[in-house]
Order: sequence, then structure tokens, then C-alpha cells
Amino acid sequence: MTEKKKVVIVGGGITGLAAAYYLRKHARENQLPLDVKLVESSHRVGGKMQTYVKDGFVIERGPDSFLERKESAGRLAREVGLGDKLVNNSTGKSYVLVKDKLHPMPGGAVMGIPTQIAPFVTTGLFSWPGKFRAAGDFFIPPSKVKGDQSLGEFFRRRLGDEVVENLIEPLLSGIYAGNIDNMSLLSTFPQFYQVEQKYGSLILGTKKTTPSAKKKPAETGQAKKKGMFLTVTTGLQSFVDAIESKLEPGSVIKGIRVDKVSKQENGYRLRLSSGESLDADSILIAAPHEAALHMFSDHEHIFDPFRDMPSTSVATVAMAFPESVIKEDIDGTGFVVSRNSDYTITACTWTHKKWPHTTPEGKVLLRLYVGRPGDEAIVELSDDEIIKIALEDLNKTMDIQAQPDFAVVSRWKEAMPQYTVGHKERVTKLKNDLASELPGVYVGGSSYEGVGLPDCIDQGEAAVEKILSYLKLRG
Ligand SMILES: Cc1cc2nc3c(=O)[nH]c(=O)nc-3n(C[C@H](O)[C@H](O)[C@H](O)COP(=O)(O)OP(=O)(O)OC[C@H]3O[C@@H](n4cnc5c(N)ncnc54)[C@H](O)[C@@H]3O)c2cc1C
Repeated sequence: MTEKKKVVIVGGGITGLAAAYYLRKHARENQLPLDVKLVESSHRVGGKMQTYVKDGFVIERGPDSFLERKESAGRLAREVGLGDKLVNNSTGKSYVLVKDKLHPMPGGAVMGIPTQIAPFVTTGLFSWPGKFRAAGDFFIPPSKVKGDQSLGEFFRRRLGDEVVENLIEPLLSGIYAGNIDNMSLLSTFPQFYQVEQKYGSLILGTKKTTPSAKKKPAETGQAKKKGMFLTVTTGLQSFVDAIESKLEPGSVIKGIRVDKVSKQENGYRLRLSSGESLDADSILIAAPHEAALHMFSDHEHIFDPFRDMPSTSVATVAMAFPESVIKEDIDGTGFVVSRNSDYTITACTWTHKKWPHTTPEGKVLLRLYVGRPGDEAIVELSDDEIIKIALEDLNKTMDIQAQPDFAVVSRWKEAMPQYTVGHKERVTKLKNDLASELPGVYVGGSSYEGVGLPDCIDQGEAAVEKILSYLKLRG
């Protein structure tokens, strides 16, 4: 009998789960001699995907949805039997809060880049000098920078400080909780660099290359337009549970941490916090880079470039209210907050409108975000203090003075990895160093090549391909 090849996946977030699922699927379909173990340090799998269900509310503590356009997440959800539970978000206006005023997002803005002239000229989001400066994009030549540059440097040069600070920065920090002036252009939005190089103008190039920007408002059917995001009506926790249920019984080890990985004559040995160890022919590290640094203390130099990679701490505060507390119903699904506003919250989703299935009839569910680079101490405060601060901000914007029926605070400490300038090169070097010094060891997940759930699943799937090739099981 052929001896089974052993694969160990470290970390049971979506990256590790996706990899475990596809490895098992491939092994079963091709009757491969493969033994897959997934080791997760906490007592549950899912990592940042976590749902709290209470009194008919479906409350996401971490991510609430994923981009439909990046197909891997929807595909995996269908594979594990959740196809009939996938829903798109309801669309509606979104706003930017700048200095105490909610401004509707200018129509045609793609990640803050204007693609339609009229809404941009008429918006109250920018001053006239700010608008004229943005029009400079039509004349400013493409940058000569060949390597990476910060998102701030790139957008400030093309569109000016005001458009960046009042629109682009709040939108981007909603995704990355990062400092735009440190974040890498090539690791986050390389397409904008390519557009600039090809078309000169970012505005004209984005209009040409974004399908939705090419359509007139009437063609997009504005009000009835399908939302860009998908979620699972029973909560993202049920997505995680469905994947776990498809794994080999006994293959998921929970509540045990991988402390160290050592190279052996043949393969690797993983020392576990339980005192036991596991042997592996191939390993996927799907835990955050901070954890990987500890595990590879014998090979520190490989992960060294990631020692200074920061991760921002954030918290979400979900608040349930009776509908009657809303004095003036604002048409829309939420707002992001510019940094130059005197607010602690960084964004607020009107969840009951964006995702109607999450909220019982007659109720309202709001989800607020706090924490960003330079303002992370808030995450350390008690639940009551965080709720009080969030309520003060809500009062200022939506005139909500009532206490919520209940509130759920979820802290995510050092959870948003920051792709700073040069990140892409560091990832390439890490992968090359692993291939030459620790063959068969791979990394994946939000610390490396994308933070969105589909990006993480893509990385899990890519690691499966690498592992199968390395073990010569592809075919
Ligand atoms: C508040 C918030 C909102 C977000 N919203 C969205 C959104 O709406 N849409 C979207 O696409 N993305 C969103 N994201 C990003 C997305 O959730 C994450 O990037 C993604 O879930 C990360 O998955 P992962 O597998 O890389 O890591 P994780 O989910 O962090 O999983 C890593 C796992 O490794 C385990 N681990 C760590 N060390 C060890 C060890 N030594 N041994 C064993 N196990 C270990 C951890 O316990 C954890 O379970 C959001 C993130 C946050 C925090």
C-alpha cells in the first residue's frame, strides 16, 4: 500500500478552511493517498468570520459579505450547499460624513475616482479649488515611479489632497483600516497604476475600463440595480460550519496552537501547545504573519521582512433599536467618515437596509466601526465606553438619542494587516526563500495577497495546487 502523504494546515480561518476543503475534494475524487489535518488555536474555526444570532437578528461580528465579482467565495458557498442562501445586498445611496454633514456619494465615483462630470461638479463634498485641482488629472503626466508608491502619494498627485481626504481615504480605510500615506499601491490597487500608465488620466482611464462607469444611469436601472456583494442569509458562521462539515471527521484539531515548525531529514515536525507533535510532508501556514514569525524561530530570517508589518486594531459595534427611534429616515445604506471630521466612528452601516434579512420587522440594526491607525486605543476601552462613544457620534449624525435594545461589541486586535509600500516584493521574496530553504511549506491568507474573503479563498486554492504538485499528486 502507498504510504499516505501528510499535509498540515495551520489556521482555520477562511484561507485554511478553503484549502482543507479543496484538498479533501481532490483527494476523494482522485482516490489519492492524502492525510490532511487542520490545526486551529481557538476553539472554533472561521477566524474573523463570526456571527451572533439573537432575537431574530443576524449580526456579523467581523466581515458581513464578499464581492460577487471575485467568484471564488460564491463558488465555495455553492459547493458546500449554501447556494439557496446567498443574497445580494440591497442597493441605495451611501454617504460620506465630512465635518458634521452627510454628503451623498457622487454618482459614478469608482473607489472615489470621478467618472461622471456632472455629479462631481455639483457635489458639496469638495470646494471649487478642490474640484479644479482634481481636473488637473486630465493634464498631469503619468508618474515615472517604476516600483511601488503609497496610495496617498499616487492619488494626491493625480486628484489633489481634498478629493483624497474627503472621499478616497474614507472609502479605502473602510476596507483596509490603513493609513493611505503608507499603504502600497501595487498590493492594493495595481489596476489604477496600470490605468494611469496607459491612459494618462485616471478619470478617463477609469471611465473606459470600468463597465458600470460606461453605462448611463438609465441603463443601470439605478434604483433596482443588483448589489455588488453577497452574503449567506443564515450568517457567515454558517458558511464556515458548512465547510467544516465537509472535512474528514477527526481532521480538524481545535484549541491547540502550533508553536514551532522544524525541518526534519524528511519533511517537517510541528510542535503543538498540547505537548504533542505532528509530522508533515507539506504545510500551509494560513495563520497571520505575526504567528508565522513565532513558528519559524529556527528560520527567522525568512519571515524577518514581516517583523515590522503592522496590523490595525478595530472594533465593530452592532446596535439594535426599535424603528421608532429613527426620526428622519435617510434614504441609503450607510456612511463612511472622513478623518478631518471630529468623530470617533469610522463608518456606519444601516444593516437593516443593506441586508433586510438580518433584522426583524419593526426594528433597526446599525453597525458602527471604530479604530484606525493613530486611534486604536479605543478598542481597549470597555464595552460600555465604546457603546457610549458610538452613541454620541450617532446622535450627532442621525439624532438618535435612545439607548439601544442591545449592543454587541466585537474587538479585532491587530487584525487588519497593513500592506505598506514594498509589500508585494516582500511577499515574492518570502515565497522564493521558502521554496529554496523550506520546500513544501507555503503561506496564504490576509497577511499576504489580499484581505477580502474571495482573495483569501483564492490563496487557499492556489496553495492546494502547489501542495499537490510538490507531493507529485497532481494528475
Ligand atoms: C471587522 C472586520 C470586517 C471585515 N469585513 C470584511 C468584509 O465585509 N468582506 C471581506 O471580504 N473581508 C472583510 N474583512 C477581512 C476578512 O474578514 C479577513 O481578511 C479574512 O477573514 C482573513 O482570513 P484568514 O484566513 O487570512 O485569517 P483569519 O480569519 O485571521 O484566520 C487565521 C486563523 O489562524 C489561527 N491561528 C493563529 N495562530 C495560530 C497558531 N499558532 N496555530 C494554529 N492556529 C493559529 C487563528 O486563531 C485564526 O482562526 C473584515 C475583517 C474585519 C476584522
